[in-house]
Amino acid sequence: MTSSRPRTLARPQRIVLYEEPATPALDLNELADYLRDATNLYVETRPEFFSHHGVPDLEDLAQQLAHLKVKDLYHEEQEFPSLLGDVDIERRLLLDPRKRLPGILYDGFRLQTLMRSFLPEAERTLRTVHLAFTPRLISTFDSGDRVYHARVIVCGLPALASTSGVVEGPAKPKAFYMAKRRYSAMGVTPPTEVLKEEFEGQFIDYDDERLTEVFKGYALQALFFHLVGDPFCADPACRLFNAHWQEEMLGAQIHSAALCDVHAELLPVGS
Ligand SMILES: [Zn+2]
Repeated sequence: MTSSRPRTLARPQRIVLYEEPATPALDLNELADYLRDATNLYVETRPEFFSHHGVPDLEDLAQQLAHLKVKDLYHEEQEFPSLLGDVDIERRLLLDPRKRLPGILYDGFRLQTLMRSFLPEAERTLRTVHLAFTPRLISTFDSGDRVYHARVIVCGLPALASTSGVVEGPAKPKAFYMAKRRYSAMGVTPPTEVLKEEFEGQFIDYDDERLTEVFKGYALQALFFHLVGDPFCADPACRLFNAHWQEEMLGAQIHSAALCDVHAELLPVGS
């Protein structure tokens, strides 16, 4: 295969993984072992991001988080006042990180900026890859179709990987939505459990047993963002493929479960 080797930007020295207590199926130790083997870097696991770094003012953080909620999918960078109920929810989530509240969409880049302010100065460098898992559903505004899209990962410092985004981000099979519409057309609420059974294995669900395997690829995307400035690859069989469909994500992370030759050549990073 003739292709140019991407120029490396930084030499990351370690990867720090943060726990996500709402998702027991995510095995951080297995993920850490995989990354150690693949990258030869020092890999550290830590408790949930805010618990680890400490929250000096819970009320203030709850208010800041409530501000990051996307209230209009078609407008970027909204500054709506947060409602009391929103702040309440954030306070509850901070006090008990085992909770997951579906349906709230956050602006991923703004959440990342807020979380970056919690990183100690010495760790705020491209040499450390911080990967914070979160049950919060993160999204970014697409300037092409001018709408917010749910994401599995937002790379950067820290990188955010969402255990809700992996379910809600990449689209499910077309037949799934058609079946859902069929039920709606009959005036029946689509029986989610029945549909999930019918399409079993074709998409990642909450607390899915394949989550750890799937997130291995996303952890590599977080690393490659630091390494070459681009976390993605055009090869659908590469773990760095930017999947828009569940089928594509499962193809890259479960069926292929490998990097393409160009990206594989950049590993291991550590000596
Ligand atoms: Zn690749």
